[in-house]
Amino acid sequence: MSVDAPARPARRPLHLAIAPAHIGYFVLCALIVLLISRATLDGYILNILMQAATYSVAVFGLSVVLGLCGQINLAQAAFFGIGAYAVGLGTVDYGLSYWVCLGIGTIAALLAGAFLGMTTLRLGGHYLAMVTISFQQIVTLVMINAVGLTHGPDGVPSIGRPALFQTSQSYLAFAVAALAIIGYLVWHLQDTRLGRAMRAVRDNELAASVAGINVYRTKVAAFAISALLGGLGGGLFAGGFTYVSPDQFSFAESIVFLTMALLGGVASPIGAVIGTGLLILIPEWLRFLKSIPGLYLAIYGVAVILIILFMPDGIWGFIANFLRRFVRPVQVGTVPPLVLAPDRTGTDMVLDVKGLSKHFGGLKAVDNVDFGVRRGGIHALIGPNGSGKTTTLNVISGLYRATSGRVVLGESDITDLSPHRRTWAGLGRTFQNIRLFRSMTALENVVIGAERRGNSLIPARGGYPALEERALAALEFVGLGPRANEPITRFSYGHQRLIEIARALAANPTLLLLDEPAAGLNSTEKRGLHDLLERIAAQGLTILLIDHDMTLVSGAAQHITVLNFGKRIADGESLGVLRHPDVIAAYLGTET
Ligand code: ADP
Ligand code: MG
Repeated sequence: MSVDAPARPARRPLHLAIAPAHIGYFVLCALIVLLISRATLDGYILNILMQAATYSVAVFGLSVVLGLCGQINLAQAAFFGIGAYAVGLGTVDYGLSYWVCLGIGTIAALLAGAFLGMTTLRLGGHYLAMVTISFQQIVTLVMINAVGLTHGPDGVPSIGRPALFQTSQSYLAFAVAALAIIGYLVWHLQDTRLGRAMRAVRDNELAASVAGINVYRTKVAAFAISALLGGLGGGLFAGGFTYVSPDQFSFAESIVFLTMALLGGVASPIGAVIGTGLLILIPEWLRFLKSIPGLYLAIYGVAVILIILFMPDGIWGFIANFLRRFVRPVQVGTVPPLVLAPDRTGTDMVLDVKGLSKHFGGLKAVDNVDFGVRRGGIHALIGPNGSGKTTTLNVISGLYRATSGRVVLGESDITDLSPHRRTWAGLGRTFQNIRLFRSMTALENVVIGAERRGNSLIPARGGYPALEERALAALEFVGLGPRANEPITRFSYGHQRLIEIARALAANPTLLLLDEPAAGLNSTEKRGLHDLLERIAAQGLTILLIDHDMTLVSGAAQHITVLNFGKRIADGESLGVLRHPDVIAAYLGTET
């Protein structure tokens, strides 16, 4: 491939590539809104459409928090209720304008969601489920029992609407227009920095944090956006039906919202609309069965279970997977070769590990280890299985907290930083057991790496094309450029390792930590890896390499540190270390 061929733009996400598609979407939506405002709709149809339009907004929230970010929210009906009661009480009891109330309700839901997220998202998924259920129950209890504030079980009647949309039909047209715009924004969230971070967190939290993503903040943002959409949907709902009562916002309704999202397909707002529409319509279709008590519910339940069983990605997921067969991956254009420009500020030592220990209970996995990595070249960290190499790397990159000791990168002490901050500071790493974002393509994986904060090689206003170009160059560098647009699942084990290395290189790190990159490779692949390491080192990027393959280590590394039972037993220039009697003993298992 010729280097000076003009840089062609690489694959653009399909919906971004086609500007007419955006225009077409809005033209179509405008036509639907026009149709709704002009057609003669009977009250029954109107009610169904009103419910579908307003519920869909809340279900969008679940596409964000569950679909994009992989976090559970079992309180969407409570956020929906907050928005609805803000509009109900605000217009009825306090005589505020509809718009002001809609704003208040949306912001109140957002704040409640942000607070709930901030207090629980540091804990695991089960806690979030429990806390959202509790929050849901509290909101329901307040709606029922704080009679002075909420009117209690009787609910709030005669809720106001905006002056422009006084009739039900015009209000429906407004609600559908709002749905179209909100849906558009939610759809595009996945192509923003935040959206990419959410997907990375959903796929692999550890890899996301090591790629420089603040996992906690990303989750809180997803949860808060989800609550905001719940509140907004609720506000629209209250104006639509002009009456709210506590039973409309119970825990059972939260489950209905969740079912709608899963049924339609949680990965996309299109799925949200499909699921919502269907779950509102199925009971209507089964209405003729209502004469036989219980039968209706049984059929309804079985229908939902069957759909979810046979379409685990939901109805839209099923359709999208089918359509994807006809879309061939776009061939990638030529990009300029990858430049590695590691930060060279600071001393001769790029990494200084001082008195580092990591204890797991009584086990001293790393025990008072000292070593320094000189700037430039390859430094190997070796030792028998279980000697503490991976643990050392995990402490350096912040996945484990050191029991004691310090880690200094360049001039900054990074011992107390979180993993993503260490990545911002210039650390890059791969994992012994490969950690890629498995729902993404190779290119999308590497884009996440390129997006590291502090990557001086990404122009500030470069936008997505600059990230993509950098990612492509990194993939090209490891030899996988032509396959950039293939999903991760199609790559062999060895190639997945290369993608992981490309993801780390795209971030332009100061120090690259590789944990057993040669494990599982055949001899040809190992030679390729050796060559790759030399090409990386040739550009001045320092590598700290863990590996068992002595041909690779002795061939590539200038400096070796040896661990055994968590202790450093040798350290120095390669040849000397490999001849050291303690090292030979550790590897051959003889007593010294
Ligand atoms: P190496 O990478 O050199 O093969 P590791 O660093 O993975 O070795 O493991 C060193 C020791 O620490 C092993 O005895 C291992 O069982 C233990 N260890 C590693 N991680 C943990 C953990 N999260 N909890 C408890 N023990 C651990
Ligand atoms: Mg290991």
